[in-house]
Amino acid sequence: MIAAVIENKNFVKVKNVPRPALLPGHVLIKVAYGGFCGPTEICIIEGIHPRAKFPLIFCHEISGIVEKTTPGSKFKAGDRVVVNPLMSCKVCKTCCTGYRYICENLKLIGIDSDGGFAEFCAVPDSNVLPIPDSLPLNIAAIVEPVAVGIHAVRGTGVSIGDRLLIFGAGPIGIILAEVSRIAGAGDIVICELDERRLDFAKSLGFETIKTPDALRGEKFDYVIDSSGSELVLPYAVDLVKIHGCISIVGKFDFPVKVNLHDILFKEITMRGFRVYAEDEFNSAISMLSSNTERFSRIITDEYPLADINVAIDAFRKRENICKIIIKV
Ligand SMILES: [Zn+2]
Ligand SMILES: [Zn+2]
Repeated sequence: MIAAVIENKNFVKVKNVPRPALLPGHVLIKVAYGGFCGPTEICIIEGIHPRAKFPLIFCHEISGIVEKTTPGSKFKAGDRVVVNPLMSCKVCKTCCTGYRYICENLKLIGIDSDGGFAEFCAVPDSNVLPIPDSLPLNIAAIVEPVAVGIHAVRGTGVSIGDRLLIFGAGPIGIILAEVSRIAGAGDIVICELDERRLDFAKSLGFETIKTPDALRGEKFDYVIDSSGSELVLPYAVDLVKIHGCISIVGKFDFPVKVNLHDILFKEITMRGFRVYAEDEFNSAISMLSSNTERFSRIITDEYPLADINVAIDAFRKRENICKIIIKV
């Protein structure tokens, strides 16, 4: 089968590899689409991801059709499915207290083991979820990042009428905004430096600003960061209201300075969100099924698997407007 293999640091090759062996309790999926996660993929390709080992078939955002199952499987050939890539150890203290998604030994399909940028991938039955016929496979490729958005918006506590400031108009920023809108948030303001992304966010009906200075001291119930930029934290602390919450969804690669004095004085909560609980993955499937048109607009760039290196280059040069998916 054809697969995109990271053979070595900064060397991704589309090549012929053997089909994965189908172990008991696993499902062989004919991959339809794989989402390009962005910073995570680049971190793996550059060889700085702490767990990824080469050679690796990457991609953890997978939609496809069941090709083959093993005895006792709840699936059959032809089922339309997505993959929940989280693999928890089920024995650590965090797993045992019911938080398997944040397992102390958490692994991901597509990072710790071969993933979706290949004609076929074999994953445990328990990581496979059926999708309704009404949900197109290309849209289903973004179930995973939508689950990230649902986890963060739910955990933040966004509710009807709330005022929200989101930093970053990349795929996760836009997903956070769409999920918040569905949750009933009132004003949703997106702050982004990149003009094209700012225009894109505006075209989806969100209020946009290039810099928080334009806000003239308006306060927000919640500030959510998806940018991972140290520049935003002083603004976040300043712009969140007393007793507000700052949610961190963007990936910070370095320690940053935060004004703890204001966090104390305003009794601000600051909380991180990494992945999603199993039920939130299901919620993402139903949210995408009932809002297919709205979420389809987030997918702005599609490449065939053979052009994976073109997609990687485009992402590095920030040429993509929003979400990149790969047609396998
Ligand atoms: Zn992802
Ligand atoms: Zn565990």
